[in-house]
Amino acid sequence: MKNLSKFYINGEWVSPLSSASMPILNPATEEQIGILPLGSELDVNRAVVAANSAFKSFGQSSKDDRLSLLKKIKKVTERRFEELAQAMLCEMGTPITFSREAQADAAIGHLDAFINALCELDEEVELPNGDILLREPIGVCGLITPWNWPINQVALKVLPAIATGCCCILKPSEHTPISAMIYAEIMHEAGCPTGVFNLINGEGPIVGSAMSRHSDIQMISFTGSTRAGSAVTHDAAETVKRVTLELGGKSPNIVFADCNLDDRIEYSVKECMSNTGQSCDAPTRLLVEKSCYEKALVIAKTVAERIKVGDPKDAATEIGPLFDKIQFDRVQSMIKIGIDEGCRLLTGGLGKPAGLDVGWYAKPTIFCDANNNMRIAREEIFGPVLVIIPFQDEDEAVEIANDTPYGLASFIQTGDIDKAKRVAKKLRAGSVHFNGAGVEYGTPFGGYKQSGNGREGGLLGLEDFLETKSLHGFS
Ligand code: NAD
Repeated sequence: MKNLSKFYINGEWVSPLSSASMPILNPATEEQIGILPLGSELDVNRAVVAANSAFKSFGQSSKDDRLSLLKKIKKVTERRFEELAQAMLCEMGTPITFSREAQADAAIGHLDAFINALCELDEEVELPNGDILLREPIGVCGLITPWNWPINQVALKVLPAIATGCCCILKPSEHTPISAMIYAEIMHEAGCPTGVFNLINGEGPIVGSAMSRHSDIQMISFTGSTRAGSAVTHDAAETVKRVTLELGGKSPNIVFADCNLDDRIEYSVKECMSNTGQSCDAPTRLLVEKSCYEKALVIAKTVAERIKVGDPKDAATEIGPLFDKIQFDRVQSMIKIGIDEGCRLLTGGLGKPAGLDVGWYAKPTIFCDANNNMRIAREEIFGPVLVIIPFQDEDEAVEIANDTPYGLASFIQTGDIDKAKRVAKKLRAGSVHFNGAGVEYGTPFGGYKQSGNGREGGLLGLEDFLETKSLHGFS
């Protein structure tokens, strides 16, 4: 059992000032693997004092010093890579292969991309009119992260904060604290200056809200649900701090009849179910052209029924359990809603897969003949549940794709690159994936509409943490 009893503040592991706590369970075994102290406003205040004090010198640090710190963080992260992968397996149930190749890999991939971005960043720019612009760190940042890509999200916030000379207080999801505690140990081992990085565990409405309201925090970088992102925005309004939001999605995936159907439907089903369907940008609405619809259903059913669900420790497992009982119950209730709405169940459905009675496992589930007004087509389910909707032509596909409050990602499967480009320009989403291409480290990631604002990753990911100061008469 990992010792989770302390918070990391001002370069030290310190006891929390409150006595509340919650158990941490392994979702595959339902066994308790830790007890997490839950912080209070007093803990936040203590971390803010440390971060503000550190900002006086770290905010003036040179680019070379920050690059050298990032390189040290990379060395230690590489050494502790396997611990990060194993931590996410235990706290979240991510299958070990995925945990290594995607979840823990993000810690290194984002480091390389931010090191390159910092090299590229012009911190002093002379305008054609002779005035000078300084790009400066915004100050002390509160970083609030979710449980579904624990280290990916932590890296996307902590690294740009440090790269730009900001000091930060990380509040990771209370459901995935183990990987975050290892990350704090990495920062310590890498020699992060005292007070530059701080970690407090706790619940969103208490610790997250105290951070959002705090007058000595200049920015909140938040990733999570649209509901909580909206609460953070309200809390932050009084102190007029910058708020960047990375929120939920219900991403459309348009399959045109001219694609390689076997290949593209297999990809589409697996991409939706990957991470047990618990990804913000998962392609959860599969829009299929009517002329290949029946054939696509046969392929989708076969693929879903072959997905290997099971023990996350097994290297061959493709999807593990949902991350906890709350999520399992929510996914079950959405499947029930789909059935009650009269949607046709192609495969999967209620209950656990055969032989997996212990652990929060759900069946890979596909609904078909859906329409875009159904709740299962509009709400984020966050489980291995795909909703298939037929469409007649390109215009109708674009209309259905954009008919959502979200705008995080979108996907196109076609053999015609010109059609793909034409459709991509009409989609109201932060990214468009053509024939299965993934997001590269260093490419900005973020959403339109209620999927958020701001962009994470690479050079644009640094921009969010910068202020601009203009100098007149200095040239
Ligand atoms: P959540 O909103 O419940 O929690 C996210 C974080 O916010 C947690 O640390 C939580 O403690 C905190 N929080 C909750 N209420 C808060 C409040 N009132 N004030 C301040 N902080 C608060 O989300 P979750 O269940 O942890 O994560 C899943 C959600 O995150 C999904 O909606 C998913 O789409 C989204 N997500 C988005 C991205 C992206 O980049 N767009 C990436 C990953 C996850």
